[in-house]
Amino acid sequence: MNKKINTKCVHSGKKIEKATGGLTTPIYTSTSHLFPYNNSEPRYPRYMNMPNYESVSEKIAALENSKYGMVFASGMAAITSAIMVNLKQGDHAVIQSQIYGGTYNFLVREIERYGIEISFVQSTKIENFADAIKSNTKVIYIETPSNPLLEVIDIEAIAKLAKANNLVSIIDNTFASPVNQNPTDFGIDLSVHSGTKYLGGHSDLLCGAITTNSEELINKIYKYAMNHGGTLSTDSCYKLERSLMTLGLRMQRQTENAMEIAKYLDNLPQISRVYYPGLASHQGHEIAKKQMSGFGAMLSFELDKDIETCHKFMHSLKICAAATSLGGIESTISMPCEMSHAKMTKEEREKNGIKENLFRLSVGIEDVGDLIEDFEKAVS
Ligand SMILES: *Cc1c(COP(=O)(O)O)cnc(C)c1O
Repeated sequence: MNKKINTKCVHSGKKIEKATGGLTTPIYTSTSHLFPYNNSEPRYPRYMNMPNYESVSEKIAALENSKYGMVFASGMAAITSAIMVNLKQGDHAVIQSQIYGGTYNFLVREIERYGIEISFVQSTKIENFADAIKSNTKVIYIETPSNPLLEVIDIEAIAKLAKANNLVSIIDNTFASPVNQNPTDFGIDLSVHSGTKYLGGHSDLLCGAITTNSEELINKIYKYAMNHGGTLSTDSCYKLERSLMTLGLRMQRQTENAMEIAKYLDNLPQISRVYYPGLASHQGHEIAKKQMSGFGAMLSFELDKDIETCHKFMHSLKICAAATSLGGIESTISMPCEMSHAKMTKEEREKNGIKENLFRLSVGIEDVGDLIEDFEKAVS
């Protein structure tokens, strides 16, 4: 039976607790287990073979419509595993230039000393990705919609390009979440998430995830991850499993709210530009319609004012907190130049079109009328 998203959120991966018939997975706390015991392999939390780990991995795989799922101690643990397991000395990777700041830092500040070469593609055009491929290219990596300008790339075209050139394709699917986009359906090899954002959804959990349809890749990543030790603890697995039960509901509400707010901001004379894939004026609107079931709950916009006024605007919002991170049930706003993208140099930001008056908004589940009233007061 091909279940729909909210049914999967509630039921996939769920195991009835044997001792009591409880409907929720208990938190398995032991780090030491009898051996031999019930013919099982040695059990140890870092080996990712605890029931909490297994339940939540199955759920995340089901949500992404993928065969296999793995969860990690952070989004970066998932991302670095997905990238590094596919590269060795002398290899080359083609990477979209507008990606999460932490991923960018990892690539430019860590990976070089392994003798791995990176080419950044500053475009959403498939031809530009194709042009960057060399004889030693092994990986192609994209993030769509991207952070912070919500650029959209044709996922299916990237997957085809990767297959034709024998490359592993990786996408950071954090911004869309499994509710709005399932990249492995389009032939992408690895979909990665910072679960700290929508999957956790309550701004109180650090975690990451990978899903794939490839048995070969999941086995490779499993071994790599076990050796690197970034396993999610059983307590956090439990928290993530619980959070995922409402992912569909949260995301659907947040996505609806974001569409309303994008339309509202787009009509304000004080706002010079709104970046949201759901707006017909957006660079990637047509592609987004093809590959997303909803346009997500992240948007960004430029306030047509000097920096001082921009700061005043941000801090006069009453409901929407000026805060780092994103994806929680509460709306938050940030200025990428000073926060999420502060580690980039000014030149790197300018090259990527990230202006000083740019705001990134993570839309929560609040009543949209209240959020709009908050903006109305802050801009006037
Ligand atoms: C936050 C984020 C990450 C990093 O995840 P952590 O959980 O902080 O390690 C990666 N990609 C995107 C798009 C993010 O927003």
